[in-house]
Amino acid sequence: MIVKAYGAYAGDKPLEPMDIERRAPGAEDVEIAIAFCGVCHSDLHQVRAEWAGTLYPCVPGHEIVGHVTAVGAHVDGFKVGDMVGVGCIVDSCRHCNPCDEGMEQFCEKGLTGTYNSVVADAPGHTLGGYSERIVVNGKYVLKISHKEEDLAAVAPLLCAGITTYSPLRHWQVGPGKKVGVVGIGGLGHMGVKLAHAMGAHVVAFTTSESKRQAAIDLGADEVVVSTNRDEMKAHAGSFDFILNTVAASHDLNPFLILLKRDSTMCLVGAPEHQHPSPNVMLLLFGRKSIAGSLIGGIAETQEMLDFCAEKNIVSDIEMIPIQQIDAAYDRLVKSDVKYRFVIDNASLRA
Ligand code: NAP
Ligand code: ZN
Ligand code: ZN
Repeated sequence: MIVKAYGAYAGDKPLEPMDIERRAPGAEDVEIAIAFCGVCHSDLHQVRAEWAGTLYPCVPGHEIVGHVTAVGAHVDGFKVGDMVGVGCIVDSCRHCNPCDEGMEQFCEKGLTGTYNSVVADAPGHTLGGYSERIVVNGKYVLKISHKEEDLAAVAPLLCAGITTYSPLRHWQVGPGKKVGVVGIGGLGHMGVKLAHAMGAHVVAFTTSESKRQAAIDLGADEVVVSTNRDEMKAHAGSFDFILNTVAASHDLNPFLILLKRDSTMCLVGAPEHQHPSPNVMLLLFGRKSIAGSLIGGIAETQEMLDFCAEKNIVSDIEMIPIQQIDAAYDRLVKSDVKYRFVIDNASLRA
């Protein structure tokens, strides 16, 4: 099946319309008409070759929501018309230890990403959600139980939501815990909403003065403009956990100073250039940790979607037609979106 998509032929080229091929759904597959797709900063890193190894043509997009249009004979739990989502993972080996434990993101054979992973389907690598339809093995398709009218705002949960939910759960964020979220972009704004919903005292760290009130509206109890030394100093040694979502290389030391003894700052940002090495003394004195976290497994992604549906949590979005994608990327680089661009995939047919 040939479908319309948007992608790039090289890292220094704008995205442009292209026709791509989707496999005919097999017995284990679900075919989905994509209604909306969120725009993750990872899409920009990948398509503009800020990360190594981009395969072209590159069709990004791993915050996919839409409706089921066909279901393979061996697929349970889905029917035509269901609201569904696809996140960053479309396959994995299903046999290794991490896969057995529901952590497909750490598959020992390497996960198959929704875009830029080598596969048998044309053109030899996966193509993502900036397209009309996608065909995915049913084990990697998520159920959406939000209201239909919320569908566009649910899309960012498929990456920004799970990437923040998973570490917040792993480090047991909840009532009585003081939690920092650094960088109030697509990931960070979900981090604030989720940590708040889990009952923590949430402090948002931003470099954007314009987000001071906006972060409170998201559910932050306090906001710190991280370039203001005095504001930072007031929180020294007080955090149980910090989730750092910043998309660019920056000095980690000012945040390590804010951690309590035995506490962790988890990095989820994946910037083009490495952070400068932190001051080791800041880790020694206080037995502090720097950690990382990668998206989340399929079962945990479903848990996150159900948690968000129950608590009425969606993303704050700005909807764009696909024709504005390059302009949206330029604004993303300037942290100029509150807080996630979402593509209206109907615009592919415009
Ligand atoms: P985003 O919407 O661009 O948000 C990043 C935020 O970082 C910005 O809004 C800004 O927040 C802050 N920031 C940007 N440049 C900065 C700088 N030079 N110094 C300090 N702060 C800066 O991006 P996103 O989609 O949330 O993604 C964030 C990062 O996570 C990206 O690198 C992405 O590739 C990565 N990611 C990782 C995973 C994973 O599994 N680990 C999953 C998805 C995405 P303020 O305006 O509030 O300062
Ligand atoms: Zn992403
Ligand atoms: Zn595996």
